[in-house]
Amino acid sequence: MSWGGAGIGAAIGAILGGPLGAGIGAAIGHYATNSDDKIELECPHCAQSVEIKPEGNIWSCPYCQKSFVANLKSDEEADYYINLCSLGLVAKIAKIDGVVSKSEAKAISNFLDNFCKTPEERELAKEMYLLAKDDENSFEYYGELLYSLFSDNQEFREAIYATLFDIASADGGLESSEERALKELIDILDLDISIYNYLYNELVGNRLNIEEYYKILECPVDASDSEIKKAYHKKVMEFHPDRLASKDLPEAFIKFANEQLNRVREAYEIIMEDRAKR
Ligand SMILES: [Zn+2]
Repeated sequence: MSWGGAGIGAAIGAILGGPLGAGIGAAIGHYATNSDDKIELECPHCAQSVEIKPEGNIWSCPYCQKSFVANLKSDEEADYYINLCSLGLVAKIAKIDGVVSKSEAKAISNFLDNFCKTPEERELAKEMYLLAKDDENSFEYYGELLYSLFSDNQEFREAIYATLFDIASADGGLESSEERALKELIDILDLDISIYNYLYNELVGNRLNIEEYYKILECPVDASDSEIKKAYHKKVMEFHPDRLASKDLPEAFIKFANEQLNRVREAYEIIMEDRAKR
């Protein structure tokens, strides 16, 4: 898939499209079986032939020791495991640097809003997320499960990967633990490192130094919170479309003003978040 142009949010939305995982189960039905006999299948990680007993859905490969999901009996069951490992990964990446920061929590909440259609679905997804946050499974484990479900669907793996990157970088950058985990996940999900580099540039590399954001608001770094708020409101007034609309200005200027307004809002948000962390 192409990651350029439309932006990451749109790319993820186009692929996951709607409730997280729901309905995708049908696409991975090739593992499904109702047989009571031992099942022989290919390990999705190392391609060795593995024999499994038909009870349970999660196995560990005796050859490569990696975990995989198999023997799913219905689309609903498949959806459950897709949700489990996707939300498991979300929970683990958010926690990997020790704390789930405010902006990470917001990114997760946005993610749940976007991919759950009903409040009931969202409630369920949130419950799975909270359970996974404190369970003993590792980030790698959920990554292996996800890979086993989508070994032949690179787009979905990429979409989940981009989501995790987005959450991990929500508080302004990547801690070394987040960086390590995201690079490791490239291997687990058998993705190309260029995706990591692309997302890094897009989500981390383009961010300015915190001092640059103060310059946008024309505030000194040691200004008080209320001074910053004042400067922010002044800038918003300057560029607000309602004020400019009545002045019969050229379209190019309106466009410029809108971009400035977005910059000002972003600067204010990031400065306030940065201050809340201190
Ligand atoms: Zn294996």
